Order: sequence, then structure tokens, then C-alpha cells
Amino acid sequence: MKDYLAKAYAFDGKVRLYAANTTNTVYEAQQIHGLWPTATAALGRLLTGSVIMGAMYREGDELTLRLISQGPLEGMVTTTDAYGNVRGYVGNPQVFLQKNDTKKLDVSKAVGPGRLSVTKDLKMKNMFTSGVELQTGEIAEDLAYYFTASEQIPSAVSLGVKVNDDNTVKNAGGFILQRMPGCPEETIELIEKRLKNLPPVSKMLEDGLSPEEMIELITKGDHRILLTMDLQYQCDCNREKFERGLISLGESQLKEILETDGHIETVCHFCKTKYDFNASQIKALIEETK
Ligand SMILES: [Zn+2]
Repeated sequence: MKDYLAKAYAFDGKVRLYAANTTNTVYEAQQIHGLWPTATAALGRLLTGSVIMGAMYREGDELTLRLISQGPLEGMVTTTDAYGNVRGYVGNPQVFLQKNDTKKLDVSKAVGPGRLSVTKDLKMKNMFTSGVELQTGEIAEDLAYYFTASEQIPSAVSLGVKVNDDNTVKNAGGFILQRMPGCPEETIELIEKRLKNLPPVSKMLEDGLSPEEMIELITKGDHRILLTMDLQYQCDCNREKFERGLISLGESQLKEILETDGHIETVCHFCKTKYDFNASQIKALIEETK
């Protein structure tokens, strides 16, 4: 089944609700980066939260989430657009930490204390960055806090990544619920009650629920689906991007590399594609700096 998200207005139009299945996207990330189980869960949750957030923005906008944190994961980065494309990486992919009592993957400990920073690149127009302290490092709570504290949109976020014993991805997904202005108190109470009784996302996915069915379970039918969107792990890197990056190093640094190494090997953080530049290609880049 393809990964996708569904967006709905719910509870008499006073709530925006997004639900997504991101199993293949997280599996792809796991394969590209060789992620160990806790790294899979952590990056999987952030990729899922990011790609849902991307659906909240306009076409052409790009959203980058950065976790600058002190745990063994050494931080994470994800970038997404408004078309369901997302990519990301962790500082250290080889993290496998479990909670002592439950043996559940300990994402909070792997992430550690730090900050979440969100950069919105509204292309051609402007770039905005805002950030919050991490609350728990469990990702969902941190994103919920970001929406509430930084964007003044009271939100509930639930994200789940289930990793099999053989380190493959069993399922991944999540939902984000946002209150619109003027949401009545009794609706807020009703939502809180529903969310409290809701099974974890991983359980819902395990039971075979689609994004629309997750929404249905929360709203009991009081919603209207506005759109569905395919989701995928996709990098937009190309050789020209890396050329521009190298040119920006400037003439003297490129000349130094040419004399000492004679070639440059670059690797995309997001998809691990390699771009090599030999001596004559470096010389051409030096010409470009002039
Ligand atoms: Zn790439």
C-alpha cells in the first residue's frame, strides 16, 4: 500500500485533522541510512510529523525541522514540501536504546535535551525560523508544544513507529489535530476524552486502519475529508546544487583542495548519493568563482 495522508475538517468545522501512514517512507529512510532501531523510531517520528506539517503550507513552501540535541543520536534534520515529499537524516544512525522496564525503544533518551528549530522557506518571499526547547524528546509532545507555544495553535500530535525484531519497519504513521479559533469548550472536552481513549498509532496501524479510518475513530463521523495526498521519501539533490556549494567556498579554498587532494568527493546527507569532482572539473569551478 502507498503511503498517504488524509486531511479533514472535524467537530463542526472547529478542528483540523491530519492522519498519515508513512510506513514505506520510514522504511526507505531506514535503508538509506542503515538506521538502528531507536534511530529508526526517532527519525521515523520526525519524518512523519514533518510531512504532515508540510501539508499545512502552500505549494512551493519548504519546511526544515532541526533537532539540536545532546543525546547519542546527535540531532536530526528533516525537510519537506507541500507535495508529500520528505527527507531527513540523524547525526548518528547507530543508536539502539530501550527503556529498562518496558523494553520499548527509548527515543527520549536517544534524542536527549535540546532544541527544535523550524525554518519555513516561503521561496522568493522570505525565510522564517522559530524554535522551542524540547519538552520530552519523544517528538510528538515536542511538536505539539511547538504548535502551541510558537504558532499559538493548540494541537495534539501522536506519532508511532513500530520496529520489528529484525530491524525492519512494521508500521509508521501519525495524526495531528488542531483547534481552530472559536472552538467551544465542550468540543475541547469531548476531544480530550476521545484522545485519552484512543489506542496508540502503532496499534491502529497494526489493526489495518487507513488514515481516513483513524480520523473516523477520533471524530465518530463528525468530519469531512478535504484531501488525500501521497507521501514519499524523496531527495531533490542534483550535481548543480553541489557545484553551487563548492563555488561558494571561493577561489583560494578550491585551489588549495586542487593542489592537496586533486579531487573532491561529496555525499548528500539525505540520500547518500555521491557526486565526484575531478581535477579538470574543479578547475572549471574555480573559473566560475571569478
Ligand atoms: Zn540527495
